[in-house]
Amino acid sequence: MDELDAVVVGAGVAGLYALHLLREQGLRVRCFDAADEPGGVWHHQRYPGARIDTEGYAYQYQFSEDLYRDWGWSERFPAGYEVLRWLRFAVDRLDLTRDLQPATPVVSARFDDDGWVVRTGDGGSVRARFLLCCTGVFGSPRRDAIPGRTDFAGPVVHTGAWPARGPDLAGKRVGVVGNGPSAVQLVPRAADVAGHLTLFARSPRWVLPAANPMYGWPEREAYRSRLSEVRQAVRSTFGGLERELSGVGPADVAALYAEDPLLLRPAALPGVLTDEVLRAAVAGEVRERMCERLGGDPRLTKLLVPENDDFGLRPVATDQGYLEAVARDDVDVVGVRDDPVTRIRPEGIELASGTVHALDVVVLATGFAQAGGCGVELRGRDGARFTTAGALGITAHGFPNLFVPSAVSRGHGNDAACLQGQVEWICEAIRRVRADGAATIEPTPAGDTAEVSAGDTAGTGVPNTGLPPPGGIGAYLRRCAEEARAGYPSFRRG
Ligand SMILES: Cc1cc2nc3c(=O)[nH]c(=O)nc-3n(C[C@H](O)[C@H](O)[C@H](O)COP(=O)(O)OP(=O)(O)OC[C@H]3O[C@@H](n4cnc5c(N)ncnc54)[C@H](O)[C@@H]3O)c2cc1C
Repeated sequence: MDELDAVVVGAGVAGLYALHLLREQGLRVRCFDAADEPGGVWHHQRYPGARIDTEGYAYQYQFSEDLYRDWGWSERFPAGYEVLRWLRFAVDRLDLTRDLQPATPVVSARFDDDGWVVRTGDGGSVRARFLLCCTGVFGSPRRDAIPGRTDFAGPVVHTGAWPARGPDLAGKRVGVVGNGPSAVQLVPRAADVAGHLTLFARSPRWVLPAANPMYGWPEREAYRSRLSEVRQAVRSTFGGLERELSGVGPADVAALYAEDPLLLRPAALPGVLTDEVLRAAVAGEVRERMCERLGGDPRLTKLLVPENDDFGLRPVATDQGYLEAVARDDVDVVGVRDDPVTRIRPEGIELASGTVHALDVVVLATGFAQAGGCGVELRGRDGARFTTAGALGITAHGFPNLFVPSAVSRGHGNDAACLQGQVEWICEAIRRVRADGAATIEPTPAGDTAEVSAGDTAGTGVPNTGLPPPGGIGAYLRRCAEEARAGYPSFRRG
């Protein structure tokens, strides 16, 4: 069995950075990914229209000025394929390929006194002192949310597992099931090429239009010259964005929308999560704009525009032309709250009322199962089964030398900034353990439970409401830094 210092599972934004930082310490590391190339979600989610809604320059790695400067984004909010290309560029520049093992799922890992024994899907196993599960949160697309998938005569694809050569939508009758963030991104692109598009929408959701100007040399130079400010901002603000608004009142909302609708997102305006009056004002403004964009169509408004004031309490979708697309003559929106989708038939999608919508391609934008754990069957000390991380949301008592980075922004901000901060914290903790001649680090029972227990929002003791913890990414990363500065008082080293 190969003996390594560290195994990293997952070659996305977090795993690739971890591989680089651990190698910089001189460790023998291998990074496994089930996919046949690195890239994480940007490899898996290649549906038309996929893109980030964090500015590319705030999303990319910020640890190396050269690496930062040598990549240039072509738009403010780059498409998923451009993010994938950037990750390929980082892999090349950091010479990561030699320690990457793609197409190799990790099925289980068990801790014994000498570290972790990691088993892979090809029957192999390696031993490593440290284990980092950088497996993300999009591992289990809900492909079987509707019965009958295999009965359909044409292709059925899920946005979360879009093949590199996805189905040809040109001229086809395309059905999109679900109207969450991925559908909001996909629908305008698909409507442009499909012969006819049917959107099966269950619940109205908040949508903000994202202005997405092209970036040329001047824009790139402008953000490149701000690298140190960008890096400082994305680690200290609530949502990991460069600009954060405070002191905003209801009277300011319309002007902010006019300046840039995305300024109203909780990531930029965290006050909407705690101040009901502000939230209602934002909800009112966004509702009015959404109705306008739908051309005042009462039926579409009823199906797609939220009536209550819960703006921001679930991730707000950002779009480029979604509401305009659904108002097209060759796009139908079918409300499925009262007449739910019951099954996929060979010819199309059937609703509870018996109506069948004939289709050539079915796109499932049905989201992801909350699988629990981290996509790997983990057994810690005494065979205990890993279910959820405790201290700081990335470690767990009973699981020495295990780290599970997972952004606390929860779809409300710059996950990549949070993940970069977590990975740096983890790699520094590993460096200090080794420098001190210790073999293991794990949270004490008190460290695990005093701050966070199962279901809490990472590292804060606040129940998991699906929202970021108070103070968001900035407060969370400050808490991590304090823990390290104080010599890891919530952890035991062995
Ligand atoms: C459409 C879309 C838009 C997004 N927009 C933004 C945005 O604007 N800003 C933002 O900050 N974030 C955004 N995100 C969130 C995104 O998930 C993070 O930014 C980031 O890419 C997560 O990186 P990661 O390394 O944690 O995990 P992932 O990118 O999910 O990578 C995890 C990897 O682990 C692998 N894996 C899982 N289980 C195993 C196993 N058992 N064995 C081997 N390999 C395994 C997977 O194959 C995958 O490659 C978006 C996500 C999507 C899908």
